Amino acid sequence: MSTVDQYHAVATAIAKAAEDAGRRPSDVTLVAVSKTHDAEAILPVIEAGQRVFGENKVQEAKAKWPALKERFPDIELHLIGPLQSNKAADAVALFDVIESVDREKIARELAKEMKKQERAPRLYVQVNTGEEEQKAGIPPKEAASFVARCREEHGLAIEGLMCIPPADENPGPHFALLAKIAGECGLEKLSMGMSGDFETAIQFGATSVRVGSAIFGARDYG
Ligand SMILES: *Cc1c(COP(=O)(O)O)cnc(C)c1O
Repeated sequence: MSTVDQYHAVATAIAKAAEDAGRRPSDVTLVAVSKTHDAEAILPVIEAGQRVFGENKVQEAKAKWPALKERFPDIELHLIGPLQSNKAADAVALFDVIESVDREKIARELAKEMKKQERAPRLYVQVNTGEEEQKAGIPPKEAASFVARCREEHGLAIEGLMCIPPADENPGPHFALLAKIAGECGLEKLSMGMSGDFETAIQFGATSVRVGSAIFGARDYG
């Protein structure tokens, strides 16, 4: 299948999973994860109508997205990878949504840059639902107080939560945990589910799913 065929198949599967869960297909946003793929690979998917894309590295996104955003001004770009504080300025300038707010220092830097640039990307807090040492994100027990501090101390309007469940576990309980924490924080947006588990995530209430390889094929990290 071509990339565009794969894109249509994923979009159809998302709509079906939403309907099966008694939800409206329009309530689930597809974030097409284009990391490692160049503009040439991404363009057909944009031309097929996709407008929301995810990248995990600020440098890589900066190299390929400004030109594409100029051609297609309604593109919405999500940062889904860990953010370093020295990249906060670039991230605020380029991204429309930053899904990986995961520590105090980043919250502070983002607040500062947003004020300076008069630009307000929408923000998600990443939660490390599996409490994995190598993975970014706030531990589940600290998530509610971190969201409160983002709001009260840094004046940040957090819109939702994001998680990446451990690769070797049933993702369902992780999605359920993220939904529970979001409920406790009064947050409506849940970014969860990737190529292998987006249908499950939709059952558990995902409002956006981040799908890469099922659309663009396997990644070559060279
Ligand atoms: C790469 C990535 C994805 C997409 O993963 P696939 O399995 O290729 O769909 C989703 N979320 C994050 C945070 C990623 O880094």
